[in-house]
Amino acid sequence: MARSRFALFGDTSRRIAEADSVAVIGLGRFGSSLALELMASGTEVLGIDSDQELVQAHNGELTQVVRADSTKEESLRQLAVDEFDRVVVAIGDDVQASILTCSVLLGMKIPVIWAKAVSDRHALILEQLGVHHVINPEKDMGRRVAHLVRGAAMDYLEIEPGYSLAKIAAPASIQGVPLGQTTIRQQHGITVTAFRRPDSEWQNADNETVLADGDTAIIVGASDRVEAFAQLR
Ligand code: ATP
Repeated sequence: MARSRFALFGDTSRRIAEADSVAVIGLGRFGSSLALELMASGTEVLGIDSDQELVQAHNGELTQVVRADSTKEESLRQLAVDEFDRVVVAIGDDVQASILTCSVLLGMKIPVIWAKAVSDRHALILEQLGVHHVINPEKDMGRRVAHLVRGAAMDYLEIEPGYSLAKIAAPASIQGVPLGQTTIRQQHGITVTAFRRPDSEWQNADNETVLADGDTAIIVGASDRVEAFAQLR
């Protein structure tokens, strides 16, 4: 429902808010990469940044890009940010601006707020405020890359602290026997959930699956068990 006190921007972003859409506040490297990825997957994006040059640089790349100070509630309301279901706060270095912005959004009762933190203290404050999802991209990526650098897994994702998923080359010890007849779960504490033969698609694994040399597998389990299993050759 259009309200006359809103500027043109407000009406346009209200239309975006009605679609499958996300408002991204802060268009630094993280925010812009996230916003562009959302656009690429068909999600409408309202991008907001206080830096005019960044706003101009992203003009035409996102559904709408606007210059505004996100710490000011009135500015966000004029852009109809209060009508979005999902908002990402991708402000990191200016911790005060990040906290103030999140506080304003929480006051607006935005159903789902994601916010980027640049330190553990920053993350703790955002969590204490009530931000629904707090992410620390540099820390998370650093941990993930550490596992890759160790060379054990081809890809690694810690789903929650202590529980992980890894993509590995199927080790010789589990090749040639149906998974149901191996003792992987009892002995190693992990489950093989999917596999891929060279040049074919991923398939779900079951008890009858027989892995062969050259197969790639997805395993899940406690992080230390996944790491240990990934080291097997
Ligand atoms: P990245 O590591 O993602 O590149 P960055 O170092 O470029 O981040 P950050 O401090 O994390 O910058 O902030 C991201 C963006 O948020 C910047 O482009 C900045 O202009 C914008 N920003 C900071 N404060 C505000 C604010 N109050 N309102 C709107 N945008 C803001």
